[in-house]
Amino acid sequence: MDGNQQVLPLAFTVVDEETYPSWKLFLQQLSRHVIRGRRGMCLISDRHGGLIKAVREGPDFVSPHGVHWYCLRHVCSNFNSTIKNVVLKDLCWQAGSEYQLRKFNRIMEEIKKHDVKAFAYLDQINKEKWTASHDGGWRCGILTTNMSECINGVLKGARRLPVSALVEITLERTVHYFHVRAIKAVEHTVTKYSHAQQSTSVQTRRQGRHGMNTHVVKIANRECSCGKWNQFGIPCSHAQKVCGAYNISAASMVKDYYDVMAYNNTYSKHFEPVQSEDYWDDPNFQLVHDPTIRTVTRPGRNQTTRIHNEMDWRQTRARQEAQQQQGDSSIQENMP
Ligand SMILES: [Zn+2]
Repeated sequence: MDGNQQVLPLAFTVVDEETYPSWKLFLQQLSRHVIRGRRGMCLISDRHGGLIKAVREGPDFVSPHGVHWYCLRHVCSNFNSTIKNVVLKDLCWQAGSEYQLRKFNRIMEEIKKHDVKAFAYLDQINKEKWTASHDGGWRCGILTTNMSECINGVLKGARRLPVSALVEITLERTVHYFHVRAIKAVEHTVTKYSHAQQSTSVQTRRQGRHGMNTHVVKIANRECSCGKWNQFGIPCSHAQKVCGAYNISAASMVKDYYDVMAYNNTYSKHFEPVQSEDYWDDPNFQLVHDPTIRTVTRPGRNQTTRIHNEMDWRQTRARQEAQQQQGDSSIQENMP
């Protein structure tokens, strides 16, 4: 993700299927060409067994250098596949997305009251990996891999092409993606930063049945007990109030990666045009055609844009069920 909360495509790969060897190869290349020894990386993904195994063997997403956290949407979906209860699935989402520990604990207790097995299922997953309340600031508020879906739109029409054409169109679209953002970035102005050392408590206003909470803000550590500052890297409303009291600019407390300079740097590198194949290095391997694999062409329009998975099905069904229930209740309301 870039500092403007948009996807920053860094690497692509073409594999025949999602397996441990293909993930291992991809992560090795990513480490060598993109990460290049940088530390503090957070990988958010589903819990694919091959990926988890490959991640553990590499240096980049293993503590203390980096972390491998799970997509909350995938955790909820897997949870629902086992527990088969939409109410508990919603509670699972609430538990994972809650920033405050006391609220997380309260929701987990609620799950326990509903179903001890469901509680045990969630309790055995490392809480750092799926909950915002135990994350420690790695996620920057990103709970799911939903944003990566936007790359499907960028690469629309690139599926089912021969590999060389696929690579070419991916490069062309990526260059365009960077170019559009590079122009946008230079239109912004740059803000200078300053530092301060204060800590205090903030009481929130009562709003109906909510509010009246006390939060501890430590300006020097850039943290507030509500958890949002740590997560998003932007001072929460409590921290902003404290900044105002001490006459400190809240903007100066925003993490560096939101800085316009950082955003400009993200898209400042240029792509090199690709030379003719005659100039390429010898790859030291030979591509061999597998005669057992044949592309079957069918008449009519090709409808494939994205491979639908179990989660699409669940969401559609949940929505249909909700609509059905709404329909039933409105029928009941209209009855004499
Ligand atoms: Zn706060």
